[in-house]
Amino acid sequence: MQQIPSDFLAIDRRLRAHIPSDELEHRNPKTRVCDFDDVLIPLNPEKAMFEASRCIHCPDPAPCVVACPVHNDIPSAMWLIEQGQFIEAAKLYRQTSSFPEICGRVCPHEQLCQGSCVRNKYDEPVLTGALEAFVACYQRKTVGVEIPVGDPTGKKVAVVGAGPAGLACAEQLRQKGHDVTIFDLKPSPGGLLVYGIPNFKLSKEVVFARWSDYERAGVKFVGNTYIGKDKTIDDLFNEGFDAVFIGVGAEIDAPMEVPGEDLPGVYKATEFLARANVDLQHLPEHMRERPIIGRKVAVIGGGDTASDCLRTALRLGAEEVMCLYRRTEREMPGGRHDRELAKEEGAVYHFLTQPIRFIAGPDGHLEQIECIRMQLGEPDARGRRKPVPIEGSNFIIDADTAILALGYWPDPVIGDTTPGLETKNYGLFVVDKETGATSRPGVFAGGDGVSGPDLVVTAMVAGRKAAAGIHQYLSSK
Ligand SMILES: Cc1cc2nc3c(=O)[nH]c(=O)nc-3n(C[C@H](O)[C@H](O)[C@H](O)COP(=O)(O)OP(=O)(O)OC[C@H]3O[C@@H](n4cnc5c(N)ncnc54)[C@H](O)[C@@H]3O)c2cc1C
Repeated sequence: MQQIPSDFLAIDRRLRAHIPSDELEHRNPKTRVCDFDDVLIPLNPEKAMFEASRCIHCPDPAPCVVACPVHNDIPSAMWLIEQGQFIEAAKLYRQTSSFPEICGRVCPHEQLCQGSCVRNKYDEPVLTGALEAFVACYQRKTVGVEIPVGDPTGKKVAVVGAGPAGLACAEQLRQKGHDVTIFDLKPSPGGLLVYGIPNFKLSKEVVFARWSDYERAGVKFVGNTYIGKDKTIDDLFNEGFDAVFIGVGAEIDAPMEVPGEDLPGVYKATEFLARANVDLQHLPEHMRERPIIGRKVAVIGGGDTASDCLRTALRLGAEEVMCLYRRTEREMPGGRHDRELAKEEGAVYHFLTQPIRFIAGPDGHLEQIECIRMQLGEPDARGRRKPVPIEGSNFIIDADTAILALGYWPDPVIGDTTPGLETKNYGLFVVDKETGATSRPGVFAGGDGVSGPDLVVTAMVAGRKAAAGIHQYLSSK
């Protein structure tokens, strides 16, 4: 904790509670929908200092610190930012987080740090997410960012998967002096930070700038290598690696299993987002073509991926973009903020609507979608009311493009090709929660490949924990 003068706490807390928020500024929806640039207007130093001064410095443990999955020391960072000590604040974040420049942009802050801010009781929370991103980028622009590398240990670790879990694990292992090589089936590192989250939420420049820190720190990257197909986990040990971390995510699109799902014009969300948002040079060869978007686009699903697809389709020039969701807005799993932005940009939502058939036109391309109206029935095992079809309520929607954003499954290939590696639920790895150790000695795992689809920050936490587990394992060998 930074030293905050004790007289400040008593005198200032009540005064600070009355400072209004300036609120984050977004670009005008009409302009921003014409490009893939960042939607948020970044903070400037004056605005950052003002916003940080709204923190009332709750007694320890502050709710924001408790709610943050990495337990960033947010009150101390707010104090430093208020004083204009942006680089010191960035350094503080980097003690607990492997990528504050990314989490500051993509974490669902309204559910985590900002959601727990006590100011919510009477006005707006402190904009802790935007402040984290601001100082991390300020540090990069002014003094640069280096990953401190530990003295060489002579141990080699293979990290499989270059998403947030693998990258966080690699960063921590390099700091301990281990030699780290990351393998990924994609041509470039980043995982869903590059191949999933659209540019208007997270610019690729931010991710690649962070990756350049890894390169300078000596982390090696081997792309276009599908572990489980091109080589196995056992091959990695035979090549001389002393331990392996598996951070392969859960990136297989869930199928819809209705007639016409394979028609031209029907896309899976993962491929659609990657082909629309990623520079062609970073895409696998078979994907190096922009998706062809029609006039009327239907996105099916209710999560964050659905919002990302709606907003991407609008930016690709579709005239009408609609979301079809089988429950009501209340049950939607996606964040409200992203949905509001999608609505501002022109997306229209049709609730209690379930597609049951994709229909081709005379040219064999998608032309219409047959849907059925739903009503809500009894709650399911998770407490969400089940959608039940209303018999005879079928109707037809015109649509020349459909994007299926129905959720993700794990890829079973590594579990299937690694003897003794325990998996569950179609391929999720079974691990010790604290160390990430799997049932195979020397093999660790973390991120979406263990938990199922979750968040960047939770994958990062898992990667950092596993790095500590691997370090302990290697030290005891
Ligand atoms: C469209 C979309 C938007 C999202 N938006 C947000 C958001 O705004 N905020 C947020 O917090 N979270 C968001 N998420 C979730 C977040 O991106 C994930 O939870 C997070 O990326 C998981 O990290 P990971 O490292 O476990 O896996 P991933 O990011 O999925 O990375 C796994 C990597 O492993 C590689 N790989 C897979 N199998 C193999 C193999 N056999 N051999 C070699 N390499 C392999 C993949 O190519 C990939 O690079 C979003 C997810 C999606 C799909």
